[in-house]
Amino acid sequence: MVVVMEERASEAQVEHVVARLIEMGMDVHRSTGVSRTVLGAVGQGRADKELIETMDGVKEVVRISEPYKLASRTFKSENTVVTVGDIRIGGDEVIVMAGPCSAESEQQVRAAAAAVKRAGAKIFRGGAFKPRSSPYSFQGLGEEGLRLLRDAARAEHLALVSEVMDVSQIGVIDRYCDIFQVGARNMQNFTLLRELGHARKPVLLKRGISATIEEWLLSAEYVLSGGNKDVILCERGIRTFETATRNTLDISAIPVIKKLSHLPVIADPSHGAGRRDMVAAMARAAVAAGADGLIIEVHCDPERALSDGAQSMFPAQFDRLMAELRIIAPAIGRSICLEPMPRRGWGQ
Ligand code: PEP
Ligand code: MN
Repeated sequence: MVVVMEERASEAQVEHVVARLIEMGMDVHRSTGVSRTVLGAVGQGRADKELIETMDGVKEVVRISEPYKLASRTFKSENTVVTVGDIRIGGDEVIVMAGPCSAESEQQVRAAAAAVKRAGAKIFRGGAFKPRSSPYSFQGLGEEGLRLLRDAARAEHLALVSEVMDVSQIGVIDRYCDIFQVGARNMQNFTLLRELGHARKPVLLKRGISATIEEWLLSAEYVLSGGNKDVILCERGIRTFETATRNTLDISAIPVIKKLSHLPVIADPSHGAGRRDMVAAMARAAVAAGADGLIIEVHCDPERALSDGAQSMFPAQFDRLMAELRIIAPAIGRSICLEPMPRRGWGQ
């Protein structure tokens, strides 16, 4: 249930309504918009709509018909902007996150961070704990990988996103990263999502490989209902009958999410396409469709990558894509990091 307060409602009136809702067994999430306060009452209690409607300072009470509540546009009509330092995800600017699938060595992460920074990425990506389909595949460097990623990100003044696979990894990832990535395979790891609801850093929530948009938003609800308002959704491709690409990047999910939810949504064309020659086309399409950002795999020597080499772009391809996005983004009223960053010396 959403309680929309009058524009002139006093703090005392708001607090009174909050107290009554809590008495009714509800959890109350407050959203203070530009002009008025909105209260989201969720939980297993029984909120008496008629009673709340008659309380002083209440403008209207709306039942949220969607199963997800705090993630819905009914609860919050304005777009959520997730901030990481001075980076704003969900604002006018299209934010690009890029880097290798996995951290492999110091030299590899340093080279990748420098390449993506030069091209205009704002956030460095890289996995240290890897969810691999086979237990015999490279599983990531663990904490050592996080340290390498952080050092490389710091050297290039980039923020850092890395995947958390399990509750036991939250503490160590929190020490090194700015954003927790929840991978497709963990989208319905509800214990992990609940725990991340108490984290103080944003959560990048990938869509599960066969999840509906409703299930995906319900997973976001787990994080939001724990009190963490900073969820970024990421469309990364779903499994369909098609085998020509690794997954089917559901571009239509972007406008659907924009309609149903206030949360920012980005796209991952790398896992979507699974082939580097198709990543740029899918990235262009995602931005044109209204994505708030992209997360892209880039590797300086993808043929020798320990994971996802086939879908990792060469730095030169990534440079070209960024130049194309500088044309597409303004055409739909968005901005993007304007110029490639100056190179640090000749021949680099
Ligand atoms: C990744 O980002 O490297 C990854 C494993 O992604 P996903 O969870 O989308 O497969
Ligand atoms: Mn990958």
